[in-house]
Amino acid sequence: MTPLSRHTRVLIAIAVSSLAVILGAYALVPRGTGARALVADLSVVWTAGYAVVCAALAARRHPDAYQRTAWGWLGAGAALFLVGQLVWTYYDVVRRVEPPYPSLADVGYLGLYACFLVAFVELVRTQPRRAQDPELVLDTVLVTLTAGVLAYEFLLKRLFEAAGAVLPLLTSVAWSVAGIAVLWLMLVELLHYTRVPVATAGLVIPGLGLLCLTNVAYAAVSLRGGVRSGGALALGWDAGFVLLALAAVLAPTRGGFEGARVRAISGDTARLIAVVVGLAGIAAIAIAQALSPAPDAAAALLVAGGVAVIGVRFIHGLRADRRYTGLLENEVASQTRSLMDSLAATAAAERSLRLVMDAVPDAILVVDREGRVLDANAPADRMVAGGAGLVTGRSMFEFFDPAAAPLVGERMAAAFRGEVQRFEAPVVRADGGRGISAVLYAPVRERSTITRLLVLARDVTDQKRTEAQLQQAEKLGAMGQLVSGVAHEINNPAAIISGFAQTLLLDELKPEHRETLQMVYDEATRIGRITANLLAFARAGGRQRTLVDLNDIVRRTFALRSYHLSTLNITVSLQLDPGDPKIWADASELQQLVLNLLINAEQALVTVEPPRTITVRTHATEDETVFELGDSGPGIPPEIRGRIFDPFFTTKPEGVGTGLGLSICYGIAQQHGGRIWVESEPGHGARFLVAIPRDPRHDGRAARAPLPPAGVATGQLTVLVVDDEAALRNALLRFLERHGIHGRGAAEGSEALALLAREDFDVIISDVRMPGMSGREFLERLRHERPELAARLVFSTGDTFAADTAALLQEAGVPTLTKPFDFAALERVIREVAARVEGARPRASA
Ligand code: ADP
Repeated sequence: MTPLSRHTRVLIAIAVSSLAVILGAYALVPRGTGARALVADLSVVWTAGYAVVCAALAARRHPDAYQRTAWGWLGAGAALFLVGQLVWTYYDVVRRVEPPYPSLADVGYLGLYACFLVAFVELVRTQPRRAQDPELVLDTVLVTLTAGVLAYEFLLKRLFEAAGAVLPLLTSVAWSVAGIAVLWLMLVELLHYTRVPVATAGLVIPGLGLLCLTNVAYAAVSLRGGVRSGGALALGWDAGFVLLALAAVLAPTRGGFEGARVRAISGDTARLIAVVVGLAGIAAIAIAQALSPAPDAAAALLVAGGVAVIGVRFIHGLRADRRYTGLLENEVASQTRSLMDSLAATAAAERSLRLVMDAVPDAILVVDREGRVLDANAPADRMVAGGAGLVTGRSMFEFFDPAAAPLVGERMAAAFRGEVQRFEAPVVRADGGRGISAVLYAPVRERSTITRLLVLARDVTDQKRTEAQLQQAEKLGAMGQLVSGVAHEINNPAAIISGFAQTLLLDELKPEHRETLQMVYDEATRIGRITANLLAFARAGGRQRTLVDLNDIVRRTFALRSYHLSTLNITVSLQLDPGDPKIWADASELQQLVLNLLINAEQALVTVEPPRTITVRTHATEDETVFELGDSGPGIPPEIRGRIFDPFFTTKPEGVGTGLGLSICYGIAQQHGGRIWVESEPGHGARFLVAIPRDPRHDGRAARAPLPPAGVATGQLTVLVVDDEAALRNALLRFLERHGIHGRGAAEGSEALALLAREDFDVIISDVRMPGMSGREFLERLRHERPELAARLVFSTGDTFAADTAALLQEAGVPTLTKPFDFAALERVIREVAARVEGARPRASA
């Protein structure tokens, strides 16, 4: 409650002290004297006047418009009464006679009621009204009947019985009936509202009630002729006006009535009062009737009516209670049922939502503005907490790599501004491992504000690695094609040079010439080795598993980089398992793995001063083959050792490192059922180890039937050489001639077939790749047209690694010579094939 202002306190003090002074004057001045009459008249004038002043103040100060109107009417009522009282006082004190009936005093006194009636209606009109129900009607009837019966019994009846002056009587009756009417109206109004705040009507009711009761009592007494000027009844008016004045002072200080905790007179209190008034009124009349020497039929009828209304009201009340109880029970039951139903429905919906959320393979999180996890599905839990159910309540930032925190925070802020965000960020898994997640932030809106974010995260580590690996493989593939083209072009001239060198070496030469020629031959052979390496590298694999010689792959890969390594001043030490361990693997992938590790070692070594060494070791155990590549570089600091296999982790400047090399190696090792790890001491280099299980399977393809053991034909032999390179043909024929082997050359397949139709040849040497008829077509034509000659065929090729050539050599079971030729080996093969053919079918002309 707000403390009262000084102004209010002063007004209250005046009201209270006025009443005290009046009571004191009443006590001091003896009854029945003129002085007492004066005291009584003046006190009423003072209190009524004071009430007018206070009501006028309230009519100005009250915050509520309806209340201001009501206080205007109350003030007007008090003012009218004051006028009446002044007139009365004039007659009573100055003229010392009773005023005539009706006088101006009566106009004032009666005017009071009209104002009070309007005022009370204004006071309560803004309050909530009760619905019309039978009980309200009965209560209204009861109150009205009681008021009517009381007015009739104690006031109107006198009028009918009275003899003498009617006008004073009529005035008194009107005065008192109007008083009853105000009381009746207050009660009926209260009955019609569910609650009336004390601050509005509640403060006014005591004053108005007391004034009306005093009037009714005064009228009743005066009708019996017992009124004396200055009697105690006048104190009722004094007290009534003082109470009204107090109400007027207090009402504006109780401004707000809207709060639920405002003290109020409830409709129930009004009903109780109505029933009590009804019972008391009817009982009073019944008693009066009983005591009366001449019972009155009309009064008896009214009493009976009153009793009947009370009876009906009680019966209705009881039935209404029962009905109400029944209704209440039904209502409670149905409310309980619907509550249970909706609880069950809510639980089912929640369960189904949870099942759906858990069925999504991606992690789903709901986070608040601080990034705290409010909810998470099972995959999220598995991803970041290993399924321990400890995600909720933690900060989302804990699940990302600390380096990604700024990005994650920035995207989160943007999402809270309402933008859907998609990005990739490194995450830390439950086991401490790292990965890459594709993340989506979607704002969750409640009305117009974004209170939470939905986070979807998918682990794309493997996908990224595979993509990168494919990209690298594609790049290598394209490079391979280029390399193989170049190698092929170089191979033929190298074979020719080598061929002529070998032929010339058969001659008598000066030692220095021989030495030079030998060097020419050696270098041509080296070119052959290099191109063979290049071709092997370019052609490796074909994305299928075969039995692969790990040492071979290591040798070739290092051979490819050997020039580069030497320019960087890097010494390489190859310590390969002498058993040449074979593994069931994808050769191109193994090559990729070795190359990536080698490039990393090179890049690490250039950051240190020489000596720079790379040590490669292969060794096989029962179960696995281990490949080791160590360097004498700077080594890998322990704090990043756990992350170097993560995709996109790099410490190298942009353009140098992609962060994918080791990630690809990791993927390749995994795909082969193996593992990769690193051992490193900072400052003492790094050593990468790859262990790949040995597969007990052997190459499942049908092995060629071994050629029958052959002797060596020694006599005069004739050979047909089919090759589109004229120089190579010539070199070959010259060499063979020097060794007593007669040869003829053909530039292509059809020419060869025509020659074969005319002449006999012991051995046919054919290139695989020729313009026009290919080696394969030539073999087929031979098998078809001259099947007896097919066994005399020897293929020559510079590129055994080309997929089609490899397949042809595999299927045909034809001996193969690799360009550039080692002519000694060539002669041996020719003589072997000739011997085998001879052995199978002895020739007449041998
Ligand atoms: P990139 O070479 O493109 O950076 P990688 O995945 O191949 O990507 O390597 C990741 C990181 O591992 C490198 O940035 C480097 O810090 C470290 N690393 C790899 N190999 C070596 C090595 N032999 N010596 C020192 N650090 C190495």
